Formats: sequence, structure tokens, C-alpha cells
Amino acid sequence: MKKLIYILLATLLFVSCGTAEQKKDAQTLSREIAGEILLKDFDPVSIFNIPTTNIEKPKYGVIDMHSHDYTDCNDELIAQWVKTMDECGIRTTHVMHCEWIGLSFEQMVEAYGKYPGRFEVWCSLDYTDIEADDWEQRAMAHLDHCKALGAFGIGEMVDKGLGDEYARPVKGTHIHLDHPKMQSVLEYAGKIGLPLSIHVGEPIWMYEPIDNHNDGLMNGANWKVDTTVEGCYDYDEVMECFANAAKAHPNTIFIACHYLNMSHDWPRLSAILDECPNVYVDIAARVAEASVTPRATRRFFEKYADRIFYGTDNGTSAEMYRTVFRILETDDEHIYNPSFGYHWSYSAYDLPDSILRKVYYENAEKLAKKLSNV
Ligand SMILES: [Zn+2]
Repeated sequence: MKKLIYILLATLLFVSCGTAEQKKDAQTLSREIAGEILLKDFDPVSIFNIPTTNIEKPKYGVIDMHSHDYTDCNDELIAQWVKTMDECGIRTTHVMHCEWIGLSFEQMVEAYGKYPGRFEVWCSLDYTDIEADDWEQRAMAHLDHCKALGAFGIGEMVDKGLGDEYARPVKGTHIHLDHPKMQSVLEYAGKIGLPLSIHVGEPIWMYEPIDNHNDGLMNGANWKVDTTVEGCYDYDEVMECFANAAKAHPNTIFIACHYLNMSHDWPRLSAILDECPNVYVDIAARVAEASVTPRATRRFFEKYADRIFYGTDNGTSAEMYRTVFRILETDDEHIYNPSFGYHWSYSAYDLPDSILRKVYYENAEKLAKKLSNV
């Protein structure tokens, strides 16, 4: 009997030690697994029991000030786009011109002109032979031509550091807003009432070292700007170039796309807006960057409600439009959207109706009215 008790006790001791051992092993194992998950594979699912709001249509009809010709001027695709715009409460879409995609401004006018009131088209500059003596005259005549055809403005220009990338000839031509020959053209654009939509720089993470301290590492790496290329402006230089141009041409309207790629530093952006009343921003394609600090972003909207345009710059899907409405209108929190390229979650801004009205359409209408009086 005694022997049997000893055997039972030994078995119990073995089992309990085994459990402790297994528990320790499970923790070690899970830590090892967690340590091996790469940030690029991080795809968390929110576990919070909090409101999830689906906004089918915005509170007010929207004027989207930043989109592109995602259809290659195809009639069927444009008709489909108009249907989606109807379903999603988009009154008018501004379609930017990019010479590098190969379609002429005239083709865009023809294709989108079939829907009066639903689209506005923007033209681009042609830098061919910019060194020739007559370039400024040609550039201005081109703007007159486009304006006569119905161009709303010039854009989208893109300068991430190498100069305008979206016009002919492309990338690497080092044509910045501070190019001496641009000055008379920028001035003329203001004179004939063509605003300039320009994408300056990129979100700051694209200029930071790609290391374990980079706050926006994944997207930062995807869209890294290589400022070591000869002649490339760094983030500060390209921003200074933009601000100087805006100050030098106070009668020309500059719309800095994507919050001027400065949504990580609202005070710095605010200082530029305070100094340059001719500068506006659009919110296009920066939901991910701005919704990580929803309260600071909301304060920016509150202070600069008259200077912000709605924009998307992100295709034509209903889901895309509705994601932006949700971010602007609701107070939803901790929203994951891996398609935006960051590892963090988003929180919505809960903007009041008075601001929504301005951003959705009032500011765009006001600008159109102002331009029509030039
Ligand atoms: Zn764009």
C-alpha cells in the first residue's frame, strides 16, 4: 500500500512539473513566434466591441477636387464612374491631367465633356525645349488654349525633389517652382484664373532613414524618396521652394495636394497657410496619415475649414469613397485598412456639419466663383 502511495505521489509530482514545463514552453514558443512575425505581414483584426459605421452617402453632395483619368478616357468606364458617383453622392469630380499617361488634354475634354457639371478637367504644362528663348510665350499660349477649352486649373504637378514628374518631358528634368522660367508662367496662371494643384514632397517617413525607428516604416519604404540623386531637393528644400513660390505669386492660387504632405506637423503647415492666403490644401489620399492623430487633425480642420478641399486621388470604387466619408463624418475608432500601407489603425475625425459643408463643396464652389470673376 505504501509503495502504491509513493508511486501516486511521484506521478502527481511528475504531472505538475510537466504542466509548469509545458506552460513555460508555450510562452517561450509564443514569444518566439511573435518575434518572427515581420511588420510587412502584420495584419491584425480589431477585437474591440465599438461602433462600426457604414456611410453609404455623405451628408452633403461632394465636389472631389483631386482625381485622375482612371478610365483612359474610355466611354464605358466613364459611364460606370458616373453611376458610382451617383451612388456615393459625388456631384462633381475634378480630373487632373498627367501628360505621361499619353492622353492629350483635348481627349480628356472630349471624353469628360459628355457629362456637363459632373467633371472638371485640369491641364498640364509642357516643358519641351524649356531652354529655348520662346518657352515662356509658348507655355502661356498653351495655358490660354487650355483655358479656352475649359481647363479649371493646372495640375497635378508633382515635385518630390526631382522637379515636376507628371508633365512632359518627365522625371529628372529638375523643373521646380523656383526655375527662373517658371516665374512668368506662374504669374500668368494667376492672371487668367488658373489655380495650380501641386503635390510637393511626400509624407515625411519617405525621407527618413528606413530603420527600426521609422514611424511609418512600411509605406516609408514603399515610397522612399532617394534624395542622394544629384540635384534632388530634400524635404525641407522642396517645401521651402513651394512656400517661396506661393509668396512670390500672391495672385496665383496654389492647392497643395495631400495636406502639402505635412500632416505629421500641423503647426508647420499652419504657419505656411497663415503666411500665404493664396495656399489651400486638399485631403486626397492622406486618410492613413492624418487619421492616426484624429484630434490634432480635427483641430486643424476647425481652424482652416475655409482652406481645405475634399479630394480622393485613389481610384473610383464606392468602397474608397465611403471610407473617406466614414473618416470625416463618424467618430469610429481603431479602423484597420491594410490597403493604405501602414501598420497602424485609424480613427475618424467626427467633423461638425458646418465644416463638412465647407470641405465637401462650399470651398470648391467659392473657388470656382472667384476664378470666374478673374
Ligand atoms: Zn493625384
